[in-house]
Amino acid sequence: MKVGFIGVGNMGGPMCRNIVRNSNHEVVVFDLDAAAVKACTDLGASMGASVADVAAACDVVITSLPMPKTVEAVALGEDGIAAHAKPGTVYIDLSTNSPAVAKRVAAGMAARGIQMLEAPVSGGVPRAVDGSIVIMVGGEEALCEAQRPLFSSFSGEVVHVGEVGMGSVAKLINNMLAFCNMSAAAEALMMGAKSGIDLRKLDQVISNASGNSAGYRSIAAKAFAGNFKPAFALDLAHKDLRLALELADELGVPGMIAPQVMSLMRMARGMGMGGDDTASVIRVYEKALGQEVRSG
Ligand code: NAD
Repeated sequence: MKVGFIGVGNMGGPMCRNIVRNSNHEVVVFDLDAAAVKACTDLGASMGASVADVAAACDVVITSLPMPKTVEAVALGEDGIAAHAKPGTVYIDLSTNSPAVAKRVAAGMAARGIQMLEAPVSGGVPRAVDGSIVIMVGGEEALCEAQRPLFSSFSGEVVHVGEVGMGSVAKLINNMLAFCNMSAAAEALMMGAKSGIDLRKLDQVISNASGNSAGYRSIAAKAFAGNFKPAFALDLAHKDLRLALELADELGVPGMIAPQVMSLMRMARGMGMGGDDTASVIRVYEKALGQEVRSG
């Protein structure tokens, strides 16, 4: 089978390379960033000339793109996938999207005889690299089952969560929780730094105690090392939280915690950290208090 992969950045790149490594599929990639493409072609993928070129040539087309509007343009635009893929092509979007845009894209694809699965992922770059990433799939269950071998070539857990839209719902709820955990961890770690406690000892306690979470572990590791190079850019996390807050509003669920995290993200972006890693939220505390949370 010929698999197209459009958007081979921090997440798409390693997932694409795992398909190349772990399956017999011919993989064709396209990205606006030549270095990102090269990291995949070096491993055996071939390079597509454009979105339209990849769409026309492939049986399955996958995207992993930054914003809902990017996904919509690449999927439904004049030079996009729907306009150029053959009827019968399967389209899989791994991006974090809004449920409404996912549904709109699926409808546009269906009008051209293309079936779609929305399949956002969770686990960050490390789990995209080691192939254990979790995929939450919205779309027809039989189609999800048919694509399970392809999913298995780059993920450890595939959960069919319902119709198109429900993948995004699961993803946005998960990320809202992760960002709340991470922001609480930023506050906790700053308390640790101010108290004078040995941060490694505090970390040993939290990692084995009830305060532990994936968000805590991620921000502690990055803060201790002072490494805010973007594995998950704050701008993308801000997009996810904005979409989650919109969903909460649609559902009538009162936000007590997530809106505060949104304010923290706005401060970090306002301080110029949007392109840095999401863990940069801790630097808002650092700058406000004039103290860093570092540990060797
Ligand atoms: P990224 O910015 O590293 O990668 C996106 C890639 O898409 C880039 O290489 C960019 O050049 C390319 N691109 C943008 N517009 C394009 C276009 N029109 N045509 C072709 N290529 C285009 O972002 P990422 O961190 O890999 O995130 C991708 C998606 O996965 C986002 O929706 C994000 O929210 C989601 N996500 C990210 C993480 C994470 O930890 N980074 C985790 C889970 C989900």
